[in-house]
Amino acid sequence: MNISGWKSGKIIIWKRTETTMKCPFCGYTESKVIDSRPADGFTTIRRRRECLSCQKRFTTYETIERMPLIVVKRDGFRQSFDRVKLINGMVRACEKRPVPLEKLEAIADEIEQELQGKLEREVSTVEIGEMVMKRLKEVDEVAYVRFASVYRSFKDINTFMDELSKLLTEQK
Ligand SMILES: [Zn+2]
Repeated sequence: MNISGWKSGKIIIWKRTETTMKCPFCGYTESKVIDSRPADGFTTIRRRRECLSCQKRFTTYETIERMPLIVVKRDGFRQSFDRVKLINGMVRACEKRPVPLEKLEAIADEIEQELQGKLEREVSTVEIGEMVMKRLKEVDEVAYVRFASVYRSFKDINTFMDELSKLLTEQK
């Protein structure tokens, strides 16, 4: 995928899949919307329309087509958001810990949903890392520290120990 033309900032995030809404009775292209409601878990909008020419009514389903979510790595490289990669990162941190995979999948879903809800289509790995850490901390503290040590790339054992003692103090 060519994403070189991408800029961060506000970009168009959706488009109508149908470019013209022709009246199914007379073919006229202009109609007024008399009712709109979300359908299909809010990704589709059902619209009741009235043709401005023949006044007959018809229904359209408009689907929001989202632009992909782009993850910006520390080195500036960009790649599309990968839920599996996100889960794998957490699985590694949870090795030999009593954390069920479903829990990690739920965290990944939650993070993906939160990111999808943003207007910004670019997100940094640092930002995702923070989101994961916030949630892992509540699930399993050992997994949290392991994950944090990778994500924050602790420079030495001291910063690692600092984080660990901070965690232990918070528990008291
Ligand atoms: Zn018509």
